[in-house]
Amino acid sequence: MSEYSETENLSPPQPAACPTACFPSHDPGYWPEEAMENWHDYKWQLKNRITRLDQIEKLIPLTSEEKAGIQLSGNKLAMSITPHFFNLIDRDDPDCPIRKQVIPRIEETFTDRSEMSDPCGEDSHMPVPGLVHRYPDRVLFLVTDRCAAYCRYCTRSRVVSGVSDQRLETQWEAAFQYLEKTPQVRDVLLSGGDALLLSDARLEKILSRLHAIPHIQFIRIGSRIPIFLPQRITPELCTMLSRYHPLFISIHANHPRELTSEVREALERLANAGIPMGNQSVLLKGVNDSVETQKELVHKLLICRVRPYYLYQCDLIEGSAHLRTSIDKGIQIIEGLRGHTTGYAIPQYVIDGPGGGGKIPINPEYVVKQDDGGITLRNYEGKRFEYPASTEDERVQNDKVSRKLR
Ligand code: SF4
Repeated sequence: MSEYSETENLSPPQPAACPTACFPSHDPGYWPEEAMENWHDYKWQLKNRITRLDQIEKLIPLTSEEKAGIQLSGNKLAMSITPHFFNLIDRDDPDCPIRKQVIPRIEETFTDRSEMSDPCGEDSHMPVPGLVHRYPDRVLFLVTDRCAAYCRYCTRSRVVSGVSDQRLETQWEAAFQYLEKTPQVRDVLLSGGDALLLSDARLEKILSRLHAIPHIQFIRIGSRIPIFLPQRITPELCTMLSRYHPLFISIHANHPRELTSEVREALERLANAGIPMGNQSVLLKGVNDSVETQKELVHKLLICRVRPYYLYQCDLIEGSAHLRTSIDKGIQIIEGLRGHTTGYAIPQYVIDGPGGGGKIPINPEYVVKQDDGGITLRNYEGKRFEYPASTEDERVQNDKVSRKLR
């Protein structure tokens, strides 16, 4: 028997067993009567989102801060929670890390002096409405103002969800023409809102137009749909996306509980379509501000074939002070990961420079001393190590001396 025929008889490998992390399904949860075929249908999920106080009150007890928040913060960012994500809420825990992300609180109506409506300075970097061109070689294309659910700390809450005075008015043709005429742009990030909320046909129209521009080398999609609405990641969507490689997707998961079996399967479908994925999470007080929570999150992400990419310090968006941690907390988390787990698991902690400074990396200090003799470093255990001054510097010096002697 040839080697080939032996391998033909092997059954396909199963996903790796996961002894340290689990991916439970929470469905159907608060919707026990619902037919499972509806449950797996993303259109049913969208139609049955929780958007009103009376709906939510029937399902879980609310705190007075949440009740007031739902009543008063509605013109800032709508409340909308998919049944899938709502099921992750622990009804008996007022400090549940899931509810803090999606249920408004009265604190959202308080604005701190340092907070802004556009903390990343996007509106002042739009050559065409809906297209943010801040870095020379890449753009952010805002393709919709809607998401499957709304995060209470959303950086773009000034335009997202359609309830505030400011509207996203993307000028499609002008944006495409700008990109066609701007050869330095090699990378386009589709965001919003959430680009994966568009229909397959609409999204393909955008992707194909971008793909036809010769200088655009790759396209990224920023999406929280795999977390909020994993049912949307259909085989048909994955097949369509796979026609536009190189295509990357940045997902957005903040807490390990968000990685359910449905989410894991959705991420597997995307990965099997050849789409590299990274995770962008936001550091949030009472949600994921501990090393243990972050470690569990990043380990589960790797199992789902998603590389932890950025950990953001929460932007200075109006009404988000109650969710922001100190910067020291972020540094401690990175310090608690670096050296203590796989390097692939460690995201880059960043602050988006307020007002439009772009992402600025923040790292724990591992350089103890640096002088002409070299550098003193400390490792993750606190042990010190000396590394001599660059041999490159020495070589340049030696070359100079030998030239003089000639
Ligand atoms: S999914 Fe993204 S764009 Fe939508 S509300 Fe959340 S952070 Fe904002």
